Amino acid sequence: MSDTDSTSQSDTLRTPIVAVLGHVDHGKTSLLDKVRGSAVSDGEAGAITQHIGATAVPLETVSQMAGALVNPDDFDLPGLLFIDTPGHHSFSTLRSRGGALADIAILVVDVNDGFQPQTEEAIDILKRTGTPFIVAANKVDTTPGWNPQQGEPIQKSLEKQSKRAKSKLDESLYQLIGELSDKGFSSDFYWRVQNFQKNIGVVPVSALTGEGIPDLLGVLMGLSQRYMKDEMAIDVAGPGYGTVLEVKEERGFGATLDVVLYDGTIHAGDTIVVGGANEPIVTEVRALLQPRPNAEIRTEKRFDKVDEVRAAAGVKIAAPDLEGAMAGAPVRVVGDRDVDEVIREVEAELADIEVTTEEEGVVVKADTLGSLEAMANALQEAEVPILRAEVGDIAPRDVAVASTAREPEHKVILGFNVDVLSNAEDELDKNDVKLFEDDVIYQLIDEYEEFVDEMKRAQQ
Ligand code: GDP
Repeated sequence: MSDTDSTSQSDTLRTPIVAVLGHVDHGKTSLLDKVRGSAVSDGEAGAITQHIGATAVPLETVSQMAGALVNPDDFDLPGLLFIDTPGHHSFSTLRSRGGALADIAILVVDVNDGFQPQTEEAIDILKRTGTPFIVAANKVDTTPGWNPQQGEPIQKSLEKQSKRAKSKLDESLYQLIGELSDKGFSSDFYWRVQNFQKNIGVVPVSALTGEGIPDLLGVLMGLSQRYMKDEMAIDVAGPGYGTVLEVKEERGFGATLDVVLYDGTIHAGDTIVVGGANEPIVTEVRALLQPRPNAEIRTEKRFDKVDEVRAAAGVKIAAPDLEGAMAGAPVRVVGDRDVDEVIREVEAELADIEVTTEEEGVVVKADTLGSLEAMANALQEAEVPILRAEVGDIAPRDVAVASTAREPEHKVILGFNVDVLSNAEDELDKNDVKLFEDDVIYQLIDEYEEFVDEMKRAQQ
């Protein structure tokens, strides 16, 4: 993915970026909390670093937590960077040149619940973006008769379970392996996997007891070191490349960007180009901010200013004119290049986002570029044509556009994770435009398809 020469002097290995996906309530947040919590309780202060939107776990901490599974001498990657917001929504937002921003994903599946709609959706996204992943088979502690074993690799812990507990869990795990196979992925218990590029490693874990978490970290670290090292080589001294995670209003700073930086370095004072809703924004970094450790929510000083940030990292950028920036858009430091060249690069990257629009179809609004792209893909699969697709809340203009559709089934706006501006509400009725809103893509499309079916039935 990186276009840097792997023999270059300035090449440095960056931290792999890890995202957590899975169905609601399967334990994504708990898993992330457990990783962060165990890192803090296992190590000294500084065991982890809280970034904006991400948590960095350095190699020493990973190895402390993973014990015999990770010998730091065998690794030269600096650790793991976990994206704090789990779910495929943020995963699709975090896109970079050529695909997903996350280098590797953890798909969390509740062993009792198996594959659910959002598990399927996550798998489809991982498949489409070609993101390597491992499966955290979570909640093993809920297996009837489970006997928690702290501080052991999960494989050992499994050996110490009663026959009944073990066979019950095995049943669920094999079912999971079967479900993955139905989706076209060959998988196995992680300790039996020889090649993690060919086989998905399944790691039984409990985000509650912490069992299996060391294994999970060990597998992530090993997999990145073995198969992704070349992609982690970056020109750290070069200009920073990042992706906007969120555009946020902050008191005292105005509109700011939460950014994940995946290449190079960004400095306070740098000129940057950011993808905007209308055109690229060219501005100068006023401040780079990191969360102040132990800051109270209500205190004014929630952030520390830093002079520079190196990839991979999460950082908040304060700069003038950021209001029109889009979540999911690229951020580039200009450095000593020509600013017009960088603007063209940003434009090209935005144009890469495949949303095919036609002369007849529905209007789609989504909160981020990534979700817009995901919606467009899903609609294409469902053979629903798109008239216009844009990032942003639903405005009267969108209603006006939707009302120009010829077919009644296309006089529709599909809103993913967006608000309806109050002056647009009245327009909907007046123009006989139907609005569907949801924050789960497949549900949104299901609702729309049901509406179309009903309409067709009514016409017969
Ligand atoms: P998310 O929606 O995927 O982020 O799921 P959460 O992390 O919020 O977890 C959903 C519920 O499952 C919460 O009540 C958690 O306490 C519970 N939970 C998560 N992981 C485990 C686990 O390993 N064991 C048990 N027993 N409960 C868990």
